[in-house]
Amino acid sequence: MKNIIFIAPPAAGKGTQSQMLKEKYGYVHISTGDLLRAEIASGSELGCEVKNIIDKGNLVSDELMIDIIKSKLTEIKGKPFILDGFPRTLNQAESLDGILDDNYETIYLELSREDAVKRIEGRLTCSCGKSYNMNDEALKPKVAGICDICGKELVKRDDDNAQAFIVRYDNFLNNTKVLIDYYKNKNKLHIVDVNRNINDIFEDISRIVAND
Ligand SMILES: [Zn+2]
Repeated sequence: MKNIIFIAPPAAGKGTQSQMLKEKYGYVHISTGDLLRAEIASGSELGCEVKNIIDKGNLVSDELMIDIIKSKLTEIKGKPFILDGFPRTLNQAESLDGILDDNYETIYLELSREDAVKRIEGRLTCSCGKSYNMNDEALKPKVAGICDICGKELVKRDDDNAQAFIVRYDNFLNNTKVLIDYYKNKNKLHIVDVNRNINDIFEDISRIVAND
């Protein structure tokens, strides 16, 4: 299987697809946010360095982030991986190419702003961690407002406020244009329309990453 760099606007269902890739093909999901938190929690020298940077309100440098990703890639010993949350800038994309071999594809999960807002407005979560969507037949709970798994009442997330979401969505589009062009020029970009059934989306992604 080919490795994956996911580029996806908020609400595109990246988490769901990552989970399916994990279950079906044994992908390792590498989220740079999780990596940083894990490094800090480990109490390693590098973790302390990261903690100092973040505590001061600064961003972890690209160089340091690349080192952390590199060590994670060594740890997973050749298993296929999904890179999530990185790269975000052109400089990061170029640095990343310095440590990846050619065996990856970039997958852009395309969802219009209008459809993304619709999804957000229907989103409900349970305190057990399960999420649902009233605007998607496949993701509705069996009983309205009640969690299928634990029976608790579902709630709407605070950050699912449409206005704030639109700002986040537009920022995402502005910030990723340069990455889209970069991977397009390298012939690594695949655009997947995600305003569809999750199994159809998964089939498309599977086809892109299959080694044939
Ligand atoms: Zn629940």
